[in-house]
Amino acid sequence: MSRRKPSSNFSDLMQRKYQEKDSPPSGQNIMAIILQSIPKEASVTKIEYEGPRIALYTNAPRFLIENNDTISNLVNIIKKRIVVRTDESIRKPETEARKILAEYVPKEANLQGTIFDTTTGEVSVEAKRPWLLQRNSKEFNHAEVTEKIGWRLRIRKATTIPSRTIQTINATLKQASAERSKQLKQVGDEIFRPRLSQRTEVSLHTLGGFGQVGRSSMLLSTPESKVLIDCGLNPGARSPMDAFPRLDSLNITLDELDAVVIGHAHLDHTGFLPALCKYGYKGPIYCTEPTLPMMNLIQLDAIKVASAQGRTPIYAERDVKQVMRQSITLPYGTVTDISPDIKLVFANAGHILGSALCHFHIGNGDHNFVYSGDIKFGKSILFEAASWNFPRVETLLVESTYGLKEDIQPTRQEVESSFINAVNNTLADGGKVLIPIPAVGRAQEIMMVIDHYMKSGEMVEAPVFTEGMISEASAIHESYPEYLARELKQKILETDDNPFDSEYFTNIEHADAREEPMRDDSPCIILATSGMLEGGPVLEYFKNIAPDKKNKVLFVSYQVNGTMGRRVLDGSKQVTMLGKEGKVEVVSVNCGVEKLDGFSGHSDYNQLMSFVQRLRPKLRRVLVNHGERKKSESLAMNIRRMYKLSAHYPQIQEAIKLF
Ligand SMILES: [Zn+2]
Repeated sequence: MSRRKPSSNFSDLMQRKYQEKDSPPSGQNIMAIILQSIPKEASVTKIEYEGPRIALYTNAPRFLIENNDTISNLVNIIKKRIVVRTDESIRKPETEARKILAEYVPKEANLQGTIFDTTTGEVSVEAKRPWLLQRNSKEFNHAEVTEKIGWRLRIRKATTIPSRTIQTINATLKQASAERSKQLKQVGDEIFRPRLSQRTEVSLHTLGGFGQVGRSSMLLSTPESKVLIDCGLNPGARSPMDAFPRLDSLNITLDELDAVVIGHAHLDHTGFLPALCKYGYKGPIYCTEPTLPMMNLIQLDAIKVASAQGRTPIYAERDVKQVMRQSITLPYGTVTDISPDIKLVFANAGHILGSALCHFHIGNGDHNFVYSGDIKFGKSILFEAASWNFPRVETLLVESTYGLKEDIQPTRQEVESSFINAVNNTLADGGKVLIPIPAVGRAQEIMMVIDHYMKSGEMVEAPVFTEGMISEASAIHESYPEYLARELKQKILETDDNPFDSEYFTNIEHADAREEPMRDDSPCIILATSGMLEGGPVLEYFKNIAPDKKNKVLFVSYQVNGTMGRRVLDGSKQVTMLGKEGKVEVVSVNCGVEKLDGFSGHSDYNQLMSFVQRLRPKLRRVLVNHGERKKSESLAMNIRRMYKLSAHYPQIQEAIKLF
């Protein structure tokens, strides 16, 4: 059988035309090109914008799945993202489609569930052994199955425990399906409109997170578009002038924003976003796939924490839901138009799950700007080191959390062996190890380290208990193996050895279940939130563990001045805390106390410098943010000195001309 490709003469012609014109086609033009170059057999029924993508609807999906070069040729011509959707008319009702799927999926793949997305016409097939359901497997041919059910397939690994956050997001988006389709069309209309101005000027307005850590935010603007990058808050600050991004200094209305781009989920990058929606922002919010559930979890938790501390939260749950509805998720490495003259690519930043470096390609490649966000330029068990291989970068904005020359962390090998020793000594004495830990990122890294060394025999085997948001955050990690380090991803996607499903771990769901980890005679490891002993279940364990000298409190993250974690670390032998019904309790600290550096999700000074060095051949200028003033200053100075590059550290409310 001969496969018919779209008329290659036509593609050549269009490609030539495209190069001659030197500016990509827009609006009507795109639609016309698609219509002319798509073969009849593709049976396209409708072409529509779906946010930054162009969706081709077909009632014969098999052809386009089997001839996927048809679409890649088309993408080459129009330089836009295209997705193939099935026409609503051929989608089988969910119950029927589910039944057919159950017949097709081989028993050994162990089907756990199916989730239908009515906006996109995709069905997520969740299986314990997804490697048995690959695209071209004999028993489970995607083209054939799609033809039978009328829904496109997305194969996913079924997680050990389902994430409640992801379930809620799926349900909410399903409910809002019609409204969302309409919004996505509007977003597309805005992105693919013809450019009004042919001038390319690029400027950056700093709104927060410059000369400080907290409330990261900035505005990237051209004569054509305005893009807000990050929208964080400063949880430590008292007055609104210090706590929120200085959007008031911009003199623009929220309607004028074309897009919001979020680098990663932490509160100092996303904490003000629900408020932005509350005050009227209606446009798209771009982030990676895992960043959506992660920021949802973090934003909802922030409401709880504020209420528990007697403060009025600045937004409500419905505003967090609104963020969800306006979000458009993008995988790493996909070039996406977010306005008529700005393209965005996310790349792995190695910091937390889904964390991204943001690459902005502006005009017809006139200027390329990379925002590092928080980066780890070093490999961990969870993530690969931050990406650096961008085709072009003229301006880099880099963080400086550890920007001082003295900010050097031990190597991974050193910190892992100190960790093994610290744990082994205590367990061997029959003691318990309490690790106060932030729920997101560090907890999963430590769990992977423990699982690895207990399995290899280097760490004494003992039960590991987790409590707090940790298990929910772990479930989100497990749901996105594509975002994890190569080896870990491979383990989860291709083998039965899934470290998240390790038999060492037990999650404590309710306070009544604490009896086991608290029992006197049982050595164990406990990971509980919060990371600085400032609240959360860790305090209950601390009361139980601190008085006995055979136990240990092991800190693996930074302890801010003024927190109880810091007091304990600095050697306090007695600490007071509020117990039940507001009673003051005094706890004696007789146990061992230790702190390990090197598990940080941030680059240390050397890693920051080598990241800049990697990019240097392409760079014209470096800007430094996300650090105490003296750290940003010192990093900028050393970049200037060592690499002979223009480098400086802007303050808040500065406007910088990039091009
Ligand atoms: Zn961060």
